[in-house]
Amino acid sequence: MSPLDLLDIDASLGEEERQIQAVVRQLVDDRVRPHVAGWYEDGQVPARELAREFGKLGLLGMHLTGYGCAGASAVAYGLACLELEAGDSGIRSLVSVQGSLAMYAIWRFGSEEQKQRWLPAMAAGEAIGCFGLTEPDHGSDPASMATRARRDGDDWILSGAKMWITNAPIADVGVIWARTDEGVRGFAVPMDTPGVTAREIRRKMSLRASLTGEIALDDVRLPGDARLPEAVGLKAPLSCLTEARHGIVWGALGAARDCLETALSYATTRTQFGRPLAGFQLTQAKLADMAVEWNKGLLLALHLGRLADAGKLRPEQVSVGKLNNVREALAIARECRTILGANGVSGEYPVMRHANNLESVLTYEGTSEIHQLVIGQRLTGLSAFA
Ligand SMILES: Cc1cc2nc3c(=O)[nH]c(=O)nc-3n(C[C@H](O)[C@H](O)[C@H](O)COP(=O)(O)OP(=O)(O)OC[C@H]3O[C@@H](n4cnc5c(N)ncnc54)[C@H](O)[C@@H]3O)c2cc1C
Repeated sequence: MSPLDLLDIDASLGEEERQIQAVVRQLVDDRVRPHVAGWYEDGQVPARELAREFGKLGLLGMHLTGYGCAGASAVAYGLACLELEAGDSGIRSLVSVQGSLAMYAIWRFGSEEQKQRWLPAMAAGEAIGCFGLTEPDHGSDPASMATRARRDGDDWILSGAKMWITNAPIADVGVIWARTDEGVRGFAVPMDTPGVTAREIRRKMSLRASLTGEIALDDVRLPGDARLPEAVGLKAPLSCLTEARHGIVWGALGAARDCLETALSYATTRTQFGRPLAGFQLTQAKLADMAVEWNKGLLLALHLGRLADAGKLRPEQVSVGKLNNVREALAIARECRTILGANGVSGEYPVMRHANNLESVLTYEGTSEIHQLVIGQRLTGLSAFA
């Protein structure tokens, strides 16, 4: 049993959940951990190769049913996200965007034909998806999006730009959200359609083992059936974000656990003033506070996961989890960094990489401030968004 599991939370997991967690942990140990520092440094990641391996294990769209998806529980999916993000937040992002954003949108809102065309290939990791909501001038406020879709006979013409889109540089299909005369609608856009260009965003200081891109949509002509027929209004993309945020609630704890395990091991072996760092009261206070927050975060994730499995999870509850767990994970990563001293800033250890990654995780899928506003609205009945 891990010394971090102060509350015996592991014992409250089902056998299948524990098995899935162990399999993903092993995969991360074998395929991610040995290479990820180099991917991060180079700003490159073999995303297609990894997607195929994740597909073989049923990790892509694993909480969806049918179309080659594994149909796992929300808790099992959460545990998989935790283990993936213990490797790197960028690797978890690859899986989240594929499964919870792109596949979920097609699964939930697509036509039978769209589902048959994309989902089995995406579940297998043979086709990569991305999810284009954010724009250069519209992030937290997607209702103001400028990307437009207009009708031309039976066809649709899409024009605009999407920014900060995970997986975009290698995606085969983009779920693109655009304003129409009837309101916001979603489109499944083959990324090789004339007029679509995806340019990689380089020089990120965070999430470097993840491919992020800018998508230009230059009068892209799409057949009428490219629209996701069941996606009506902004609540459609927002419901996809609720799915993905649930994975982040768990995933952030994986990054924090890796930092804590690293700091614990470092503190017990590094000596100063004639004794291990772990023997100093100030170090133990840091470790104790972090372990307490980590266990509270895991209880919260498990509670939300069980609500999701019962079909009772509400968006503002996911906001509670995303706000708390990412904020605490980032605080843990920064505190662990101090325990490693100068080695804390070295790429030889994972801690600063996780801390840098968590800066992106804090911002995407709704910034901390946006989640505070969601919770504030629930508490007061007043919207303070604008
Ligand atoms: C690595 C990475 C990957 C991403 N992947 C995707 C993706 O796959 N798909 C996608 O669609 N998007 C993606 N995003 C975009 C992400 O979702 C947005 O960055 C996020 O929604 C915030 O938007 P913004 O960056 O435009 O910030 P802004 O909306 O400009 O916000 C800037 C600051 O102002 C604050 N703020 C904004 N409005 C308010 C308000 N009403 N009250 C108080 N404070 C406010 C914000 O909280 C933030 O602190 C990604 C981002 C990153 C960094």
